[in-house]
Amino acid sequence: MKYAEEFRDPTAARIQLDRIARLVAEIGATAEKPLHIMEICGGHTHAIFRYGLDRLTPPGIEFIHGPGCPVCVLPRSRVDECIEIAERPEVIFTTFGDAMRVPGTRKSLLQAKAEGADIRMVYSPLDALDLARRNPDREVVFFGLGFETTTPSTALSIQQAARENLPNFSVFCNHITVPEPLRVLLDDPHMMLDGFVGPGHVSMVIGTHPYDFIARDYGKPIVVAGFEPLDLLQSVAMVLEQIRDGRAEVENQYARVVPEDGNPVSLAAIADVYERRPTFEWRGLGEIDASGLKIRNAYQSFDAEQKFSVGYGADQLRRVPDPEGCACGQVMSGRIKPVDCPQFGRGCTPEMPLGALMVSSEGACAAYYQYGGHRAVEAAE
Ligand code: SF4
Repeated sequence: MKYAEEFRDPTAARIQLDRIARLVAEIGATAEKPLHIMEICGGHTHAIFRYGLDRLTPPGIEFIHGPGCPVCVLPRSRVDECIEIAERPEVIFTTFGDAMRVPGTRKSLLQAKAEGADIRMVYSPLDALDLARRNPDREVVFFGLGFETTTPSTALSIQQAARENLPNFSVFCNHITVPEPLRVLLDDPHMMLDGFVGPGHVSMVIGTHPYDFIARDYGKPIVVAGFEPLDLLQSVAMVLEQIRDGRAEVENQYARVVPEDGNPVSLAAIADVYERRPTFEWRGLGEIDASGLKIRNAYQSFDAEQKFSVGYGADQLRRVPDPEGCACGQVMSGRIKPVDCPQFGRGCTPEMPLGALMVSSEGACAAYYQYGGHRAVEAAE
């Protein structure tokens, strides 16, 4: 695979691993007193386990898995609201595939579909737009979900619907932003984080400056990273170099993709279509100020929350606790590892998930399970 193999070269990986081992020794980190490095993005969590980087790096490094999986941080109440919209007879509800199996209070979208709701998987909001054009007598709703990576494409589809005056297209907007929850984690006195591996795809849109506060206000290094094993190893080494040198800066390992100032076209679309919600609920982290986006009044006819009076568009916002015995919140905020959840591999498996972290392609529990964590549970029993 041209342009990917170069980033998986074993000889180059060995050089980076030796560099990391030297830095860990210079810093004096050990298995008993490790450095806690949070990879924010769920895509990075999966890459770390897929390539065994957690086992290849020295024991003086502990990876803490961050909240960067949009499906995982979605509270159950929002899944319930999706189903409430989807079960209306006039609605064709469209979603990306990874949200289909996320459990709500009563059921998942997949179960609602099995019971007769018209729920369809799409690969892009443009597919939903097309459905709206072809089904003028139905209401087509797109489940807008994700961080800054997917926010622009939803915005562009809303702009396009406005240009075409499409009355039967709307978006159930659950777009959220990365920097705000990081501030919450950094303010948490129980979190002992020494540095961050920053998200690659999100930063491609927003650039590197939104992380300046991490270095400036909290004195922690952050390195924006790519997704191949050499990207991640080099990024960890860059974080370690900052720690060794007593520096705290925002560095960009993924400069081949991430422009320092982000993508101006995407940022303009985001600014045109959305405004900040005063607050938004995150699974495991609670309410976080200004961490969610809503559709501006100028585009309100495309806002499914307003159209169907659900969620933040309803009189009363519903709050739903996580199921009994589920530790999604603690895993989500990096306090415990997936294997420490009493349900991991027992009451919660990819076949019968209890929490979103076991379903999503970016979920930490799915990464542990997929790459061998369940065997540790089986061995312990
Ligand atoms: S194992 Fe299941 S219940 Fe436990 S934290 Fe992970 S997703 Fe949640």
